[in-house]
Amino acid sequence: MDQKINYGCAQVLLKALQKNSSKIESVKTEIVENGFYLEFVIPNNEKLSIIDFPKIEKEMKRIISSGDEIRKITNIKKLNKYQKSIIETNKNLIAIEIGKDFTNLVDKNICTNVNQIKFFKLITIGGSIFKIKTKTYSTTRIYGVCFSTKEELEKFEAFALEQRERDHRKIGSELKIFTFDELIGQGLPIWLPNGEIIKNSIKNFLIQLFLDHKFNLVDTPILGNKNLYIKSGHWDHYKENNFPPMKLDDEVYMLRPMTCPHHIAIYNQQHISYKQLPYLICENAKLHRYESSGGLIGLERVRAMELFDAHIFCDINQVDSVIFELNKMMKTVYDKLQINIDEIHLSLHDKKDFEKYHNDPKMWKKAEDKLREVCKKLEYKTKELEGEAAFYGPKIDFQYKTNLGKIITISTIQLDFLLPQRFECKYIDKNNEKQAPVLIHFGIVGTYERLLSALLSKTKGVLPFWLAPIQVIVIPVNNEFHLDYAKQICEQLKREKVRVTLEDTDERLSKKIRDSQTNKIPYQIIIGDNEIKNKKISYREYGKTDTAESNIDDLIQKIKNKL
Ligand code: ZN
Repeated sequence: MDQKINYGCAQVLLKALQKNSSKIESVKTEIVENGFYLEFVIPNNEKLSIIDFPKIEKEMKRIISSGDEIRKITNIKKLNKYQKSIIETNKNLIAIEIGKDFTNLVDKNICTNVNQIKFFKLITIGGSIFKIKTKTYSTTRIYGVCFSTKEELEKFEAFALEQRERDHRKIGSELKIFTFDELIGQGLPIWLPNGEIIKNSIKNFLIQLFLDHKFNLVDTPILGNKNLYIKSGHWDHYKENNFPPMKLDDEVYMLRPMTCPHHIAIYNQQHISYKQLPYLICENAKLHRYESSGGLIGLERVRAMELFDAHIFCDINQVDSVIFELNKMMKTVYDKLQINIDEIHLSLHDKKDFEKYHNDPKMWKKAEDKLREVCKKLEYKTKELEGEAAFYGPKIDFQYKTNLGKIITISTIQLDFLLPQRFECKYIDKNNEKQAPVLIHFGIVGTYERLLSALLSKTKGVLPFWLAPIQVIVIPVNNEFHLDYAKQICEQLKREKVRVTLEDTDERLSKKIRDSQTNKIPYQIIIGDNEIKNKKISYREYGKTDTAESNIDDLIQKIKNKL
């Protein structure tokens, strides 16, 4: 991507916007991964939306056809307050003019004539916030992209289309999985009945898996005394992501950003002997973290979240065997969710960053060497990243590459010597002496919110059968003649714990079939005269065009293998 023409394109965009509304004030232009964004302030009584894009693009083409130079000028007579604030810190900015009626401050890395801007597209519009000292201003951003060749633009447009089709927000709303409500609050997801079925299916599966692997399942409060988090270090390290504390009587509470200190408190209340190690704790937990409103993205980035979190207290010599066991559990989950891990990241601390990382080189070396040794024995390609460790220790992140090429962390294993030390965790060894355990933090699938955003995007809403909110729909051809038999089939499926719905409305058959396709229901069973006569059923699997005939027991057998 050529930065110069993208900077130029943003200026042409601003000129086109100002032609329509002279009161639009420029804030800044930035280059992003795919193109640029132009940030500006629009008068209160004016509105701008994606619907206006064709008109704006037309005006941009007119400006481009003028062949005007993008001329550097010595200064702009009247800078607005945003520009004045930006120019104080950014020395790369220069003043330019295009034609007689347009000036702006831009990065000096800009093309020299508008006719160099040929293949462009406006992508989306959004809001942001611009701060000048303590005051904040609402701004608007238009994102766009500009290429030097038509082929590049076409390739980008195909990718953008795929991106829209895989947008979890669009899929989640179409399939009624989750929603948000301004009155409830920004970034606070609401799981609708369909979403709750999916989340609970994953949760129940994880609970069983962890119990099978001898974890102790607990439930701890979503808030705690501020001192707990000061002691753990979460208060300091997550400062800007913590919700503000609440003072009540003589105590100060805060919404927990993590479960770790709660689980440590549970550990410390027991008298653990070496025979009980590794000591395993897990919890299905709700957490709250503050994200700026500009950073909120559907379920991908939220302010309230839920996850299955686990902590393992063990002896340093048990770390390998514990992680291999966790690796087995992860594989079971990846298999069930049909996810492939592409590589693992070994995240190390930054030796120079004493603000983020506890200054104890010996401790870091011991923990990092240990994890490096374990990584070699895991069957994944490993990449080492400095400065990515948690504040208390190094970690292994299990990375998944989405269909859109984005890398996301699915699981994380973190090795921690620091928190057991801060909380004076102990166990009694063979010689009846007190020893400090090490702590392994284990997140198997991250938050349900993140996981679901990835799953919806990956599958375009066609989730694995065991997660489908409705797994089978039974449609009688004619309610008058076929309803009783359809009801019998439903009952039989329900007995097998299949989530089945009877479609007995008065809608036309073709509409019922179409709706069940739109809702991506895995199996559609049709009951008509023939089916009743032959004591059979006709069914169609989602995504297939042919209808199969079978008896219900055979279909149940087939379905049960997918549960
Ligand atoms: Zn933890």
